[in-house]
Amino acid sequence: MGGRVRIALYARTEADADAAAFAAFDAVADVDAAMSDYKEDSELSRFNRRSGQGDVAVSAPLMEVLQSARRFSALSGGAFDVTVGPAVQLWRRARKEGHLPDAEDLRATLGRVGWNRLRLDPARGTARLDREGMRLDLGAIAKGYACDRALRALQARGVRRALVDAEGDLALGDPPPERASWRVRIAGEPDKTLLLARCGVATSGDAERYVEVGGRRFSHIVDPRTGLGLETRSQVTVVAPDGMSADALATALSVLGAEKGIALAESLQGTEAWMKWKEGERTRTAMTRGLSALVDPAEAGGAERR
Ligand code: AMP
Ligand code: MG
Repeated sequence: MGGRVRIALYARTEADADAAAFAAFDAVADVDAAMSDYKEDSELSRFNRRSGQGDVAVSAPLMEVLQSARRFSALSGGAFDVTVGPAVQLWRRARKEGHLPDAEDLRATLGRVGWNRLRLDPARGTARLDREGMRLDLGAIAKGYACDRALRALQARGVRRALVDAEGDLALGDPPPERASWRVRIAGEPDKTLLLARCGVATSGDAERYVEVGGRRFSHIVDPRTGLGLETRSQVTVVAPDGMSADALATALSVLGAEKGIALAESLQGTEAWMKWKEGERTRTAMTRGLSALVDPAEAGGAERR
C-alpha cells in the first residue's frame, strides 16, 4: 500500500519484543498482500478484475474492511466511497498527461462509481461489484486496518503497551509503563499534542499528495459525486475507537467539509476531529467539542488554555 509502518512496544524481554514485533509486521504484510491495488495478484486486484461477473468469495479480513467501508459510506452520505477506484485512476492519468479529464471520460467514470453497487453477503462470505469496470480502492481505509491487525497480533502475544504507526494512520494500545497516555502530535501544529490510548488516530490532507493540472491544485482525495479531486486545501485529524474507523473518517471528513464533517464526528461514540483548511488567504479551523480534553494542556497555547 506504500509507506512504512513503525511499531513502538513494551515487553518483558527483548526476545518477547522481537517475537511480537515479527508477528505484527507479518499481520501488516498479510493486509498489504490482500488489499494493495498496486499488486496485480492481491486479493483486491483479483476481485476488481471480476467486477460485473457476480458473487466472488472474499477472505474474512477483506469482508471486515468492506463492511466497515459500507458503514462509513452510509454515515457520510456517500462522501466516503471505496468504489472511487475508476475516478482515482482517471486522476492518476490526468497527472501524467497534464490536463483535466474531459467531460465524456468523467461521465463514463462516474457510471462505474457508487457504493450501493458494492454488494456484500457476509453470511455466505461473498461480495460483488454490480457493473463491469467498477474497481475498489482501499487506500483510505486499509492502512488503518493494517494498524489494527498489527496491534491485535501484539495483544495476542500479551503485548498490550504498543503503538502502530503507518505514516499518519495509527492504532494505539495501552500507554507506556507509568504513563497515562501516548503523545501524538498533529503535524504542523506545535501546540496540539494529543494524549491518547486504546484508540485509532488518522490524518488526511493534501500537504504532500496532490495533482497540479492547468494551474489548479487537486487533492488525491476524490469527491465521489463529481469524480474530481478536492480543491479545498485541508488537513483533518480524527480520533476514533480503532485505526480503521479513524482512517475512513479522516477521508470522509475531508470530503464533507467542516460543518457536516464535525457534525458527523460529534454523532459517533468515542470520535473526535480537528480540521484546518484554507479560505482564500485565511486559515480556518474547527473541532469537535471533546477534542480539547485530549490536547496536552502543557503545550496548548493561547486560546486552547482554559
Ligand atoms: P487517505 O489518505 O486515508 O485520506 O486516503 C486517500 C486515498 O483514498 C486516495 O489516495 C485514494 O486512493 C482513496 N480515495 C480517494 N477519494 C476517496 C473517497 N472519497 N472515499 C474513499 N477513498 C478515497
Ligand atoms: Mg483515510
